Amino acid sequence: MASITLMGTGGPRLDARRATSLLLRSGAEEVLIDTGRGAIHGLAEAKADFRNLTRILITHHHFDHIGDLYDVILTTWLEGRRAPLLIQGPPGTKRIVDGLLTQIYDRDLTWRSLGEPAHGGWSPVVAEDIGLGEPVTGQGWEAVAHEMSHGHGLPTLPAAFLKRWICYGYRFSLGGKVFAFSGDTVDCPGLRGLAAGADVLALCCWTAGSLLTTDHLKKLARHTLACGDTVGKIAQECGVKHLVLTHLRPNAPPEMLAALREEVARDFSGTLSIAHDGLCVEIG
Ligand SMILES: [Zn+2]
Repeated sequence: MASITLMGTGGPRLDARRATSLLLRSGAEEVLIDTGRGAIHGLAEAKADFRNLTRILITHHHFDHIGDLYDVILTTWLEGRRAPLLIQGPPGTKRIVDGLLTQIYDRDLTWRSLGEPAHGGWSPVVAEDIGLGEPVTGQGWEAVAHEMSHGHGLPTLPAAFLKRWICYGYRFSLGGKVFAFSGDTVDCPGLRGLAAGADVLALCCWTAGSLLTTDHLKKLARHTLACGDTVGKIAQECGVKHLVLTHLRPNAPPEMLAALREEVARDFSGTLSIAHDGLCVEIG
């Protein structure tokens, strides 16, 4: 039996009730997807067993998805992780991890490894950049990265930047079921491929479509983050069974969440969850 726990359902803007990360449990193995603000507290709340946390998958390099990466690397070790930790993500992931370990926190790491021998020797971290369509495997699961569109249509971002701005969603196959996690995206061919026939699709959704009343929000919904005007249609057309909406705008009032639920339910006939931190969803 596999399940996901949405430990973070917010974004970059501060919301004390919403962090940004997700935990997949497949048998005994724990796979952390993204390490945004509060990830380690989310793992503690979810009662993760750090001895079984051996993998982190990163969707993209916005700080609300990687900001607490070192906290997770170090604290899981201090709290019981002994196996090597494999961190995989889009091109640039290895450079970020290596920079954290060898340039930014190298003194902290040496101090804790050699100055506090009670923790045992340092449990190593291996980072890898993975390519689109290249399968990554774990215990009883396989995942493939699909390319998402997250700001790629914004005319103000230079072409040279966009070449190295690569954003992934992950499509997991496990025990005959499919779990798809979009990361951050708007509607695009990669998202359609990711979501096709998924048993559970966790999809970003910033706000209700009825609230897209300013040029700023209309541009955001078109280029940066999917909103209530599209998410139900995407899930319906892709044959998704259970749609879980996450990455919600900060401090979303109950009336916004109610409007979102109503409009998405008009477009989507499957099971609909609007996530909150701590929500656990079984996959099959
Ligand atoms: Zn992002």
